[in-house]
Amino acid sequence: AKRQGRNNFQIYQISPERAQQHDVLLKSRLRHAEGNGELRVFYQPQVDAASEDIVGMEALVRWEHPELGQISPGVFIPLAEESGLIVSIGAWVMRTACRQAREWEDKYGLGLRLGVNLSAVQLMEPDLLDTVAGVLRETGLNPRQLELEVTESISIKAVPNLVENLHGLHRLGCRIAIDDFGTGAASLDYLRKLPADRIKIDQSFVRNIGIDPDDEAIVRATIEMAHRLKRAVIAEGVEIEQHLAFLRANHCDELQGYLFCRPLPHASFDRLLAERQRLLTEPQANVA
Ligand code: C2E
Ligand code: MG
Ligand code: MG
Ligand code: MG
Repeated sequence: AKRQGRNNFQIYQISPERAQQHDVLLKSRLRHAEGNGELRVFYQPQVDAASEDIVGMEALVRWEHPELGQISPGVFIPLAEESGLIVSIGAWVMRTACRQAREWEDKYGLGLRLGVNLSAVQLMEPDLLDTVAGVLRETGLNPRQLELEVTESISIKAVPNLVENLHGLHRLGCRIAIDDFGTGAASLDYLRKLPADRIKIDQSFVRNIGIDPDDEAIVRATIEMAHRLKRAVIAEGVEIEQHLAFLRANHCDELQGYLFCRPLPHASFDRLLAERQRLLTEPQANVA
């Protein structure tokens, strides 16, 4: 009876009706998330592979619902895309992060790059360029510091004005990164057709460094190919020293991952920058 009960429970948990009900519930809550102040932007450092000094940060949205708790972007971003809410949420993230980056620029003057994720739905919007231009004007962030991340799972065919929009973003002075590189069906086509400045090697490859020689070969080849095409490379999901050593030995330009830092709320990220500055400017203590 116990066994059956547990099985029933498991079936109940995964039934499509339940899952769909849950999605409907989340979607209706998501509609109010921005207005209710339930959204936050976290920042994850990106570091130079050789010096490990911070060169940029990626803005990652977080949703904390008062009753439902923390909901992962992996869960709610697809729902936001389905419902079209991603357009306003995406613009909110961009405005919030650009304002914050400008503040850090005034305070620390590091010229840090800010990565902001763009969804396919945003890239289909006719007024995407107006939105980005507006945010840059409003916040005063140098467009060179803003990098838009476009995931490779977006089909070039399904988003007719994708290439055009990316060229438009370049004309505004922004940079483009191809996110999750290697996971889509058309990586090479992406490289040929999209005006990308940077390639982000997906964490599924990085995770297998030291485990799967095939994935190691793919990482090595991707770095080499990107460099031949005059693109910079950053590896995502760098978690252990072994990843770091391999990526360094193979001339990956930049790194992002838990080994260096998790995504942080803005106040913690600010402390990180302040501490970095203190260490660099503090006169060396003279040990007599
Ligand atoms: P992404 O753009 O590929 O972001 C990297 C994800 O990897 C983030 O997950 C980050 O927290 C996680 N990560 C970073 N370092 C490590 C590591 O060392 N190990 C592991 N296991 N994970 C690491 P997160 O924040 O949960 O975001 C998931 C995805 O949701 C993002 O993937 C992105 O596709 C989407 N997303 C997040 N924020 C936004 C946003 O503002 N707009 C849009 N359109 N999508 C967003
Ligand atoms: Mg990203
Ligand atoms: Mg992604
Ligand atoms: Mg990624």
